[in-house]
Amino acid sequence: MRARTITVSMKIPPLINVYCPFCRKHTQHKVSELKKRATRSMAWGQLKHERKTVGYTSKVAGKVRKVKQSQKRSFMLRCSACGKLHAKVWRHSKKKPEISKKE
Ligand SMILES: [Zn+2]
Repeated sequence: MRARTITVSMKIPPLINVYCPFCRKHTQHKVSELKKRATRSMAWGQLKHERKTVGYTSKVAGKVRKVKQSQKRSFMLRCSACGKLHAKVWRHSKKKPEISKKE
């Protein structure tokens, strides 16, 4: 039996009123998606990984990772008052987040 894939999107408004840790009060924030940055080659974990993968085989010992049903969704919020960025992590959800263009 083939598993059905349901793609439901979760709509997020482009402007939300949340707490800003820099201003210490609720202000309007612009919501943007969190993009994956390039790995830092001199980071401790990255160096450890390179040390492990060097040699004859490229496999790293450990548990086999399961494919998770839901994912953690995170966003970046930019304060309209101070202009600083801070992250917001949404709960685990199956739904794919989508920032609506309309206010
Ligand atoms: Zn602020």
